[in-house]
Amino acid sequence: MNSKQIRSHFIDFFQSKAHQFVPSAPIVVKNDPTLMFTNAGMNQFKDYFLGNENPEHIRVTNSQKCLRVSGKHNDLEEVGVDTYHHTMFEMMGNWSFGDYFKKDAINWAWELLTEVYQLPKDRLYITVFGGDHVDQLEQDDEAFDYWAELVEKDRILFCSKKDNFWEMGETGPCGPCSEIHFDMRPLEEIKQIPGRELVNEDHPQVIEIWNLVFMQFNRFADGHLKELPAKHVDTGLGLERLVRVIQNKSSNYDTDLFTPFIAKMEAISGFTYGESEKIDIAFRVIVDHIRAISFTIADGQLPSNNKAGYVIRRILRRAVRYGYTFLDLKKPFLFNLVAVLAEKFGEFYPEINSQQDFITKVIQEEELAFLRTLDKGLKNLESIQKGLADKNENTIPGEVAFELYDTYGFPLDLTSLIARENGLSVDEKGFSAAMKAQKERSRSASKLETGDWIMVNEEESSVFVGYDTLETTAQIIKYRKI
Ligand code: ATP
Ligand code: MG
Ligand code: MG
Ligand code: MG
Repeated sequence: MNSKQIRSHFIDFFQSKAHQFVPSAPIVVKNDPTLMFTNAGMNQFKDYFLGNENPEHIRVTNSQKCLRVSGKHNDLEEVGVDTYHHTMFEMMGNWSFGDYFKKDAINWAWELLTEVYQLPKDRLYITVFGGDHVDQLEQDDEAFDYWAELVEKDRILFCSKKDNFWEMGETGPCGPCSEIHFDMRPLEEIKQIPGRELVNEDHPQVIEIWNLVFMQFNRFADGHLKELPAKHVDTGLGLERLVRVIQNKSSNYDTDLFTPFIAKMEAISGFTYGESEKIDIAFRVIVDHIRAISFTIADGQLPSNNKAGYVIRRILRRAVRYGYTFLDLKKPFLFNLVAVLAEKFGEFYPEINSQQDFITKVIQEEELAFLRTLDKGLKNLESIQKGLADKNENTIPGEVAFELYDTYGFPLDLTSLIARENGLSVDEKGFSAAMKAQKERSRSASKLETGDWIMVNEEESSVFVGYDTLETTAQIIKYRKI
């Protein structure tokens, strides 16, 4: 089964259970001060759970573009190092807004995994909420009992609030969840392990694939919980992880979702994936990041020096820097991957196809601009490190990190990454202080500035188009109109 079939089987399955298909919401969240990017399938349904709006359909299914690079969910540091956390990923889900609850959600999840996808039962196991003293909550016996009708009891484990109780925020809807994990270790090895130790989060071959959240309570500001009058189901199944286990691969990057990108990067760089851990990490970072960057640009957020735009610029620069350092790529290369992305995702996410040229151009311009200063910046950083070594120091001062940021466009996490690779750390507090001081200075000088931001078709699309130089801004606007 390829990834396209796997995605559509999910949607077909829930449509056959009377769910309405809802297209993915944009990956960039507008008008929500608490969230920059969509980080879960449920984000677009938040108001239904909060009771602010009534849903049009009480059963819904979709595949949502998610990005986990900021705020509560930030997986950036994991990406490339492990083989199953991505910046951008697709979270497939099914929802019940006050309709079915634990029984159907559990039975359908099991039916889909074991009958439609034919996953081997002896590799699956379940975690359920094990209760909590502070909230005076009992363990989730109800979920346990439904699972026990499907799975051997020693494969169902009671776990703590940290992983098995979901909360929207400090207040609001919340409830216990059941998570489904898949163990890819040799069966002989698994058989030796006592049931309780099966969930080993640190084992790279044991991964969580699906989270079923049962929204059952409302948390009030004083911390107390009250049963919700209407109970909801909210589930999230990571497509990339599911494809991996169905295709029986030991890494998400070995599935058909990523192999065309890896092949393209091999052709561009002349390196082979699998050569060495350092090179492999670079490959993984690049083929991961291109998705995050392209989907975000397609949804109207360009790389910039501000908020969401800056997050994207950082991700883009991170990818460029991995290519530069480990794959010897001194010229723009990332933009070549957009064609692969359009080929792979254009059908399900038409925004990628319709804006392919625009995305390509934006990325190429960004790469060019960054590469111009990267070389100088890296040399500068080298001499800074040498200076520190001479003095027997191992912390890069905050102002120095800020200067790298300000003059060479080195995001703090890039400086930190390079520092870490060389056994150094960065004074992050000092960096923030220097940044704050500069902001104060620029505020008072703001009248003299021409500004980085230009608004295009504000009424129509609320898309900001911004860039570093006026020349490039003009180019981008030109492409935007095409
Ligand atoms: P993990 O513990 O592996 O970090 P999670 O508990 O943070 O995952 P959830 O918030 O429960 O994940 O999201 C639901 C599902 O989305 C997960 O079971 C997983 O399949 C998928 N998922 C979560 N984060 C990522 C990611 N960074 N990359 C790919 N898939 C992810
Ligand atoms: Mg996580
Ligand atoms: Mg988890
Ligand atoms: Mg989870």
